[in-house]
Amino acid sequence: MPSLNKVFGDLPVTIFEAMSQLARDNNAINLGQGFPDDPGPEDIRKAAADASLNGYNQYPSMMGIPELRQAIASHYGHWHGLKLDPMTEVMVTSGGTEALTSSILAVVEPGDEVICFQPVYDSYLPIIRQAGGIPRLLRLEPPDWRLNEEMLRSAFNPKTKAVLFNNPLNPAAVVYPREDLELLARFCQEFDSIAICDEVWEHVVFDGREHIPLITIPGMRDRTIKVGSAGKIFSLTGWKIGFVCAAPALLKVASKVHQFLTFTTAPNLQAAVAYGLHKPDQYFYDMRKDLARSRDRLTKGLEDIGFPVLKSQGTYFLTVDLSPLGLNETDEAFCRRIVNDYKVAAIPVSAFYEQDAVTSVVRFCFAKKDATLDTALERLADAVHRRKR
Ligand code: GLN
Repeated sequence: MPSLNKVFGDLPVTIFEAMSQLARDNNAINLGQGFPDDPGPEDIRKAAADASLNGYNQYPSMMGIPELRQAIASHYGHWHGLKLDPMTEVMVTSGGTEALTSSILAVVEPGDEVICFQPVYDSYLPIIRQAGGIPRLLRLEPPDWRLNEEMLRSAFNPKTKAVLFNNPLNPAAVVYPREDLELLARFCQEFDSIAICDEVWEHVVFDGREHIPLITIPGMRDRTIKVGSAGKIFSLTGWKIGFVCAAPALLKVASKVHQFLTFTTAPNLQAAVAYGLHKPDQYFYDMRKDLARSRDRLTKGLEDIGFPVLKSQGTYFLTVDLSPLGLNETDEAFCRRIVNDYKVAAIPVSAFYEQDAVTSVVRFCFAKKDATLDTALERLADAVHRRKR
């Protein structure tokens, strides 16, 4: 057997799939991988059904159907005052992960350094390495996970081709303030680096917080690739519709990668997302309010059990620290034990580290019905007290 690609040959199965598989095997409540247990907005699903029955079902344009590219441009114009040309600056992909992969492969060449922040989403590093890039890992520190000048100064250098920045940040659930974005923007300009900005959680922000796209910070318009995801915006994660928005010179190369990764994306789902993006602002505010309520329910329940909860500013997630509970087990062992013995799946945050992992933090997804959260909480209370079930 000839040797195979080492970047991928040595990788474990992604933690999200691994935990969801364990959840399925154990018939557990899945608070691991981030997806709601609600079927998603009925009008958007009807629009997809209608487009399948009455619309066009052959290959759509490789860049995405024109209605969706228009809708993405007008959506960001409306929400962020960002002016995008739908024909040269917007591309539809098969999910956020593909959007990120197309963006990374478009930018990174052998020997380029790419700055990433730990906790780091698990798809970034393998793709950077496949492109021959060298990840430079910086570490964000709880409880604030903020950027600072000293940290950026230690990593940016003339070989820094790009920085990969996730905002709002999964799994730490931080929504970055303008000050941090301006600081990062200053370094990108000083070192002539490109920012690949994973903003898939952009609409999932709480307590009146505002998501600020890095591309709108002065000086960043032509050096930022903005990645978005309809799955997260509309709680339809299985649809896998992502977006890449960038200046024409950047988008053009990303499209050359996309054309050989997936080429195009199901047209009925694209039509339905185009419809959804025109929803009134109230839809988005209501979605945030509902999710914030679920966050508060899970937070209170976990605090009652004794978990210190790091409050979530955005995303579907909150994190808890295991150390004060005296359980004497790592996040991974805890997650394995609770899915097998107590039928609740969660994500060990050590999966978001390559070096010097934090091994006492666990991520829970709260985008679930009240009854799902309440049952999970009962089981978690038993797990903490090691009561038999
Ligand atoms: N982004 C999702 C999460 O963090 C997972 C997506 C995936 O599994 N590809 O849970």
